[in-house]
Amino acid sequence: MRLVEAAPTATIVIVEDEAAIADALAARLRAEGFVVEIASDGLRGVELCERIAPDLVVLDVMLPGIDGHEVCRRIQRDRAVPVLMLTALDGETDLLVGLGIGADDYMTKPFSQREFVARVRALLRRSQRSVEPASKQITAGPVTIDPERREVRRDGRLAHLTPTEFDLVHRLALRPGVVFTREQLLEEVWGYADGSAGARTVDSHVAAVRRKLGADVLRTVQGIGYAFGTPGQASTP
Ligand code: CA
Repeated sequence: MRLVEAAPTATIVIVEDEAAIADALAARLRAEGFVVEIASDGLRGVELCERIAPDLVVLDVMLPGIDGHEVCRRIQRDRAVPVLMLTALDGETDLLVGLGIGADDYMTKPFSQREFVARVRALLRRSQRSVEPASKQITAGPVTIDPERREVRRDGRLAHLTPTEFDLVHRLALRPGVVFTREQLLEEVWGYADGSAGARTVDSHVAAVRRKLGADVLRTVQGIGYAFGTPGQASTP
């Protein structure tokens, strides 16, 4: 896989009400050469994103005013921007994962700054990777995947997938029926050097894809991972 180094001038918005955490993360990202702006609540976060159109958003879930879930929805309404969601508890991550709310990745506090920067860089690399050689359109039953337009349709109806959701479906559909482990997917879709962290990030995106495209599109292989299914045919999701 071709990895393009993230542009050092990428702009990152941090939406986090705990000033100590926001300041520490911002200081680290600035030391890495990023331009960073902080918003201390959800509404300010949405306004800031509208104003400066950042390349990536780091978003705390528990915020005063509107919560991270709603912020995520609003900032992605008009343009796709990668979102790294921060949660305070494992249980909270599980809940969000179940909802498949469209964040590109999740980190549970506390986490190391090193891991944080690695995830930020991977997400930025991925969003800059869009100029890949276009591959052929894939048709599987009622589902068509158009890599050139980055569109997926079911029964002709466009499904509004996030860039990461698209990449996940496309990656799996290139090899229908082949089972990918979560670690493989984190490495191949998210671009992580070490796919051992963030397995629930994969589950979250699978949940979102199923909600938008139908449960039969992606098959769970218990204890192993996921495979592109046989949409439109009788099968167990
Ligand atoms: Ca908070």
